[in-house]
Amino acid sequence: MIAEQEKILQTYFGYETFRPGQREVIHQVIHKQPTLAVMPTGGGKSLCYQIPGLSLDGTAIIISPLISLMKDQVDALLALGIPATFINSSLSPEEQQSRLQQMAANQYKFVYVAPERFDSTTFSNVVRRIPISLVAFDEAHCISQWGHDFRPSYRSIVPQLKQFSNIPVFMALTATATEEVIADIQDMLHIANQHVVHTGFERSNLSFHLVKGRDKQAYLRSFLQEHHEESGIIYTATRKQVDSLYEQLANRGLQVAKYHAGLSEQERKEAQSAFIHDEKQIMIATNAFGMGIDKSNVRYVIHYAMPMNIESYYQEAGRAGRDGEPSDCILLFSPQDVQLQKFLIEQSQMDESAKQKEYRKLQAMVNYCHTHSCLTAFILDYFQGEASEGSCGRCSNCLERQETTDMTEEAQMILSCVKRMGEKFGVGMTAKVLRGSKDKKIRDFRLDSLSTYGILSAYTERELTEWIQFMIAEQLLATEEGKFPTLKLNQHSVDVLTGKRKVLMHTAPIPVQGEIDYEESLFTQLRTLRKSMADEHQVPPYVLFSDMTLKELSRYFPTSKAEMLDIKGIGEKKYEQYGEAFLEVIRSWREAHPEVKTKVKISTGAPAAPKPKHTADDRPSHMVTYQMFQSGKSLKDIAAMRALSPQTIENHLFKAAQQGHPLAWEIFFSPTEEAAVLAAYEKVEEPGLKPLRELLPEDYSYTLIKAVLVKHELFN
Ligand code: ADP
Repeated sequence: MIAEQEKILQTYFGYETFRPGQREVIHQVIHKQPTLAVMPTGGGKSLCYQIPGLSLDGTAIIISPLISLMKDQVDALLALGIPATFINSSLSPEEQQSRLQQMAANQYKFVYVAPERFDSTTFSNVVRRIPISLVAFDEAHCISQWGHDFRPSYRSIVPQLKQFSNIPVFMALTATATEEVIADIQDMLHIANQHVVHTGFERSNLSFHLVKGRDKQAYLRSFLQEHHEESGIIYTATRKQVDSLYEQLANRGLQVAKYHAGLSEQERKEAQSAFIHDEKQIMIATNAFGMGIDKSNVRYVIHYAMPMNIESYYQEAGRAGRDGEPSDCILLFSPQDVQLQKFLIEQSQMDESAKQKEYRKLQAMVNYCHTHSCLTAFILDYFQGEASEGSCGRCSNCLERQETTDMTEEAQMILSCVKRMGEKFGVGMTAKVLRGSKDKKIRDFRLDSLSTYGILSAYTERELTEWIQFMIAEQLLATEEGKFPTLKLNQHSVDVLTGKRKVLMHTAPIPVQGEIDYEESLFTQLRTLRKSMADEHQVPPYVLFSDMTLKELSRYFPTSKAEMLDIKGIGEKKYEQYGEAFLEVIRSWREAHPEVKTKVKISTGAPAAPKPKHTADDRPSHMVTYQMFQSGKSLKDIAAMRALSPQTIENHLFKAAQQGHPLAWEIFFSPTEEAAVLAAYEKVEEPGLKPLRELLPEDYSYTLIKAVLVKHELFN
């Protein structure tokens, strides 16, 4: 039976093979087994109900609390020639009525509704009467009272729907569910353990980066300068921050939109639409933005401040790279972020036990910002509730592990200080004692009489705070929960104190980007075409083709229908509608670029595993630069990403060259310039950079001269 579904995957959706979990979910649903799919964002959950919906008789009802998502989903189905609609409060009553009538006449294969729709008896009666293929609960974690986004109205329709005798099968789908939430959903919908398809949460195309101790605005400026052509979201913690960042970036001429709950509905709608339609590349927003945004080509998500918990962080950061392309999730952390989140918890209306729970979650988020372990593994462990020694090779911690410091002795001093302080104080006070602070509070508590007072006075309070936070994150120290968590020793602390365990710290992480292996100029042309065709059809650009598909086209340059159908994301239906126009652009691009060789796309059947952008190893710093340079990054780009000066970056490359690594010298000088420098070298008495510079024309920079000397091994 699944062969038929495979055919649908290929002809309608243009994909060769199922993603992990899809086959099982689809198989179970068409065999009428209630199923729960837990798959990461971008994992392909929609196909899990769309393919059974297409192969079974009747109408599929897709319930989702996210009204804003429905239109896009429906547009995407309509673009494939599949009859689908949504009925929700964004439509006029007449329009709702008319769609309901068509639904009653079995005109649709898919109907998307919000849970509240079932409050209408007219609607419920239609559902009861028509043949139904399946009912899918999308964003199913909202059904559970244990979820972080519980919607009571969603939960309350479940018993009602279970009464309907014409629903052959229920399914539930979610990307964020803890074990508790999963059990709750299973219970509600009678889903057997063996019918829970859990593919894990890892999204191998996302690279997590943590940026600490840097001027956030300067970081943003240099990042955005390099990425102004890509779509991205910047989340801030408050509306005020949104406004001020928006102002700053707009003044610098960047294409920015903003979104927060303080804006009028109209303003929000316009901002969202400008972002979705690629008119504004950058969205600056509070966490009010994003629920239900299905834009697949978001290349980065930057958190300008630390969010309140890992659940929110993963969900928000997860809006990057839904199309499966490499994307970056960057968190700009500063210690004040923690104070702000504590303040927000204190100010909230929650009761005391709920607040404690929030503090616990906040602590995990703070730990994320201080761990030196793999960031991806940290997040996955958080959801799966187990500690692993994973190493993704993509996150900033994995990438920058080359410098390791043994700080076992300092850690022992910190731990014994905590012990001597009676395990009654928090991070700040402990750092003060270790530093030997003259703070009045220290004297009041007579902490200055402890033997550990001032024992680490060679370090700043800030450094000591950072170390303690790191030890908490690595679970070498425990914290009592609450607003002012006090430090406690645990078993690991004892192991460190008794010398059974070493404490190693790694150097600060940096973001690194992946290599480009497609023709960018063609990609830009295809994107322009996509935008104009999308405008013509009044749909968001990615409904036509995802960025991933455009990149494939810019990689393999198909020139015939058959070749085009080999491209991921292009099936017969899409080809019929848009294929020719895109082929036309590719053909003329190829005529204009005869020098570019065609690559043959080999259909292997299996999707290529995403390459890690870099692997963690012991590369020295200049080799990190060299490899970034070899993968196509500009010097400016590397300097910005590594937070190093352009001179340092150049010197890194020269060092690599001196060690025998090949370098593209033409970016530094032309043959004429090279000859001029060599001629001058012959002439000067003392061949140093300065005398050479004086002898040569003014526009010959030190870098240029140095490059020539390095190439000819005249520099050491
Ligand atoms: P989710 O709802 O799980 O976040 P989507 O259903 O929106 O994810 O799918 C994300 C992207 O992956 C979409 O662009 C979709 O077309 C694509 N996709 C889904 N299944 C496959 C597949 N089997 N092969 C390739 N791409 C797929």
